[in-house]
Amino acid sequence: MAAARTLRIGLIPGDGIGREVIPAGRRILESLPSSLNLKFNFVDLEAGYDTFKKTGSALPDKTVETLKKECDGALFGAVSSPSTKVAGYSSPIVALRKKLDLYANVRPVKTTIGSSNGNPIDLVIVRENTEDLYVKEEKTYDGPDGKVAEAIKRISERASSRISTIAGEIALRRQKIRSAAPTSIRDQPMVTITHKSNVLSQTDGLFRETARKALAANKFSSVLVEEQIVDSMVYKLFRQPEYYDVIVAPNLYGDILSDGAAALVGSLGLVPSANVGDNFAIGEPCHGSAPDIEGQNIANPIATLRSVALMLEFLGEEAAAAKIYAAVDGNLDAGKFLSPDMGGKASTTEVLEDVLKRL
Ligand code: ATP
Ligand code: MG
Repeated sequence: MAAARTLRIGLIPGDGIGREVIPAGRRILESLPSSLNLKFNFVDLEAGYDTFKKTGSALPDKTVETLKKECDGALFGAVSSPSTKVAGYSSPIVALRKKLDLYANVRPVKTTIGSSNGNPIDLVIVRENTEDLYVKEEKTYDGPDGKVAEAIKRISERASSRISTIAGEIALRRQKIRSAAPTSIRDQPMVTITHKSNVLSQTDGLFRETARKALAANKFSSVLVEEQIVDSMVYKLFRQPEYYDVIVAPNLYGDILSDGAAALVGSLGLVPSANVGDNFAIGEPCHGSAPDIEGQNIANPIATLRSVALMLEFLGEEAAAAKIYAAVDGNLDAGKFLSPDMGGKASTTEVLEDVLKRL
């Protein structure tokens, strides 16, 4: 038998329910079957609003340095944002994405066969995470009829190309994982390029053209590539979500589509995400710190467990990821141990234990 692969994983629980769900993420990694030949070294790391209050920094240098030097990937829980602006405080996850050049935000949205009527939804939104209107270059000035505000929308060939390439790779990998699941209804991987180049012919035009070029590469010859103008994308996404496979979009459209799509599956407690760069992936549940349910052991751990699987996919461990996805789907389909956000009565611990039993 080949030597086990050891993955070094940073654990950043952050604030609120992050401290309840990240330990669940660690547990599922520790519980993976030994036949997968995987070992994990965990490093506990700090970030978040509580860290800010304690140390004056929401993202201590030590956290960044340790992730860079000692980790293959990480799990990030949640950070609470103070309701009024606090001097010196800014979101640590946004800073982390910058510092580690995690240029893709990947958000799968999925229902299981048993819990939906009609075809299951199984799509993923791949959002560019470094440019577009989010370069935050804004200015306000006095015009002849009052104030005017402007913002720069920056789209580059490099960022559009690498985000489209990663979208294509995700489509291929999903197809591989799907072929192992006989229930799948899709037989060809597909990427939908989303833009508004009919109006923004230069910026979105460049995104569209570059995405087309990147996805025309030989290795994507089995991938069906199509385009959708963002407004009609929203319409179709809500009318016919089961149609989509991988959706790739510039930052702003991706942001909006991601949150909209998450609404299709019911609870925020189910939706995972990953922040991905060329050599690193951070799994992160989409929900926030949920102060309203903090400390009660009722937070749904599934968004985190799926984020663990997503991180593993990007670290090249598809088989381990598939095991976790299947165990989670099994729990949801059975419907016996569901947390309160899903209409059930099970605690965080009980949902976790049920998923672990199905691994
Ligand atoms: P933050 O400022 O950290 O985002 P928030 O008050 O906006 O906090 P969210 O975490 O965004 O809260 O959650 C929004 C709602 O969804 C809350 O009512 C919360 O209880 C619920 N929720 C979020 N995550 C979960 C989860 N994992 N399990 C159950 N309910 C959740
Ligand atoms: Mg929130």
